[in-house]
Amino acid sequence: MFDDESRRQVAARLSEIRAAGTYKEEHALETPQGARIRVRPGRDVLNFCANNYLGLASHPAVIAAAHAALDRWGYGMASVRFICGTQEIHETLETRMAEFLGTDACILFSSCFDANGGVFEPLLDGDCALITDQLNHASIIDGTRLCKATRHIYAHGDMADLDAKLTLASAARLKIVVTDGVFSMDGDIAKLADICGLAEKHRALVMVDDSHATGFMGRTGRGTAEHCGVMGRVDLISTTFGKALGGATGGCLAGRTEIVELLRQRSRPYLFSNTLAPVVAATSVAVIDLLSHSTELRDALERNTALFRREITAAGFDLKPGIHPIVPIMLYDERRAVEMARQLLDEGIYVVGFSHPVVPKGQARIRVQISALHTADDLRSCVEAFARVGKRLGVLT
Ligand SMILES: *Cc1c(COP(=O)(O)O)cnc(C)c1O
Repeated sequence: MFDDESRRQVAARLSEIRAAGTYKEEHALETPQGARIRVRPGRDVLNFCANNYLGLASHPAVIAAAHAALDRWGYGMASVRFICGTQEIHETLETRMAEFLGTDACILFSSCFDANGGVFEPLLDGDCALITDQLNHASIIDGTRLCKATRHIYAHGDMADLDAKLTLASAARLKIVVTDGVFSMDGDIAKLADICGLAEKHRALVMVDDSHATGFMGRTGRGTAEHCGVMGRVDLISTTFGKALGGATGGCLAGRTEIVELLRQRSRPYLFSNTLAPVVAATSVAVIDLLSHSTELRDALERNTALFRREITAAGFDLKPGIHPIVPIMLYDERRAVEMARQLLDEGIYVVGFSHPVVPKGQARIRVQISALHTADDLRSCVEAFARVGKRLGVLT
């Protein structure tokens, strides 16, 4: 019964969130996702905060593939995979993703959040160990909480600490090192060559979450393993169809045959949650076809990222160095980051400010995300707007 006391309790939690300045407002879009969007009420803006890295979220070929898939495969499956929720198109997508990522096998999930939530519990027991980067994604953290293995957290990107934690875990029956391929707040890339080397030295498995990399990192877009030259040495890759690969929804785990087979038998989100919608499965196959035939989109993204990073640096802003289309513009002050994002929206540039607890205290920033869809003019307009607002707020002198 939701009585006055329960209402008061929930309202108190909401007040705490507001008081902490972490209450999140949502801006509804009046258009499909893209480089140019209309934000309610009727504001036309350039979009610099989507994970639509390759612009596939409303690409004509992707929409056409989705229409055809709807006619061919229907709308929903109304079942989990092992009852009557598997169509040929789901098997095709698993085969194609394994090929694309250079792994033996692949298993689909309704999201990458579910893939990460369902991977550790079947694989690891109380006498096993998980060695995980301090800044890994929330879904990896939740996944590690759902399994009985001993958890060792190593300092972000710190290879000496990883080595030490692997030594601590030396008696474990099975050990796995888990890292994001690209860290979403800093846009930095995991040192996969070093991580694979240490894992081989300590006989540990390696798992990489490549959600911010699949489709565009590496010369042919296979992800951070290709970028770091370690394809074939990563045992398990989790990734999402909800970012560069069309941005709809869905995720998967790609890796060693036996691991994928075990997950099909025991992973709880796979066994107890509905199958990926056929239209998403079929359209994802079309996206993999597109990206396998040409590197044009990831090349455009790479050029755009280099141009934007060069020009925003020349304008005098302080950014986290790197090569990834996630470009963190450091403001440090929380209020200033929020105010700057607000004024940029008024200038027609849609970006989001991030502050504690999403990033450490005193590390507030605006995270700009570049897309292959942006034109050189779009990128320059963004830099000019940053410079105008930056001067107004005293960020630039
Ligand atoms: C976005 C993201 C996820 C979640 O992916 P979904 O498919 O949207 O659930 C998981 N891990 C990382 C690193 C991400 O960036």
